[in-house]
Amino acid sequence: MKEFGYQRVLDVSEAIAVLGADPDARFLGGGTNLVDLMKTGIERPGRLVDVRELPLDRVEVTPDGGLLIGATVTNSDLAAHPEVRRRYPALAQAVLAGASGQLRNMATVGGNLLQRTRCGYFTDAAGPCNKRLPGSGCPAIEGEHHNHAILGASGHCVATHPSDMGVALAAFDAVVRYETADGPGELPLADFYLPVGDTPHLETALPSGALITGVTLPPAPVAAHSRYRKVRERASYAFAIGSIAAALDVRDGVVHEVRLAFGAVASRPWRALEAERALTGGPATAEAFAAAADAELAAAEALHHNGYKVPLMRNLVVALLTELAEEAAR
Ligand SMILES: Cc1cc2nc3c(=O)[nH]c(=O)nc-3n(C[C@H](O)[C@H](O)[C@H](O)COP(=O)(O)OP(=O)(O)OC[C@H]3O[C@@H](n4cnc5c(N)ncnc54)[C@H](O)[C@@H]3O)c2cc1C
Ligand code: SF4
Repeated sequence: MKEFGYQRVLDVSEAIAVLGADPDARFLGGGTNLVDLMKTGIERPGRLVDVRELPLDRVEVTPDGGLLIGATVTNSDLAAHPEVRRRYPALAQAVLAGASGQLRNMATVGGNLLQRTRCGYFTDAAGPCNKRLPGSGCPAIEGEHHNHAILGASGHCVATHPSDMGVALAAFDAVVRYETADGPGELPLADFYLPVGDTPHLETALPSGALITGVTLPPAPVAAHSRYRKVRERASYAFAIGSIAAALDVRDGVVHEVRLAFGAVASRPWRALEAERALTGGPATAEAFAAAADAELAAAEALHHNGYKVPLMRNLVVALLTELAEEAAR
């Protein structure tokens, strides 16, 4: 492991100044992804700027009835927060579905958004990988890709984004807030992750040196009727092979509003806008849910070993929306 310096910062302007003065420095949240990647030489910062003592550790209800979630709120505190559980239950469930209790106690919201892909070629420093070493190739396409992307990928990279939390945030139109030396900025989550194209090494639209300060969730009454479901290869803890965040408002058997986002199928949390369009204003039936899933998944491009994700996601959509519709009818 490369030697590195360590510095704890206590306010936001200090954090930005320290990072700005050292191009080799990186922010450190809980360290549960960055430090792992440093151990294998995939990440090689010269200095870690620890942001966990910054005053960004609160979840607050905003005046318009949404939520502001600080960047250093731990995954455990986020999932346990009563307003998150009441207003956006799928978010609490998504966070609890990720990692283990010990990891969630350390992992932060900012770090969760910026965690790197779990593609095995990306984490193998000895081999090629376009995301790690631009232009070196993508061995996953002809190799091991059973858990890789079926939506929005490219011939340059087919990796998936591993965050569970991000899937629920995508369903609820989250906005990422950040601070730079030039002042504050914000990015809707839909624009935060860049399309893969031929630049898979460029993952987000976050300006260089920016500190994520928090995430806002606009008010969304439909989110109170939401759920997260994750399919994984073992029950204890594991990354998703497919997941879904869904919220549904049904009135007199008709879909008034629906939110759907998919996880583990694309390089970013995947908002299923085609499915939402297909459902809104129509009947809340299993047939309609299946047709909406098919509309979304029509764009899927499976490789040799990940085609199972298409029926998996279809079944998840039908199962979860049916549950939510039955609850609405009670
Ligand atoms: C065994 C294991 C199992 C896991 N299982 C799951 C799972 O099932 N689902 C899931 O979603 N996740 C899972 N994770 C991943 C875990 O959720 C992430 O490691 C964690 O969320 C990262 O948060 P962190 O605060 O530790 O980030 P760090 O590791 O500290 O940082 C990650 C990245 O974010 C940057 N960063 C951190 N904070 C900021 C900030 N405020 N502003 C700008 N940049 C910042 C860092 O520089 C770094 O690039 C698992 C991890 C492990 C080790
Ligand atoms: S899928 Fe992406 S991360 Fe994995 S080997 Fe290919 S380029 Fe690298």
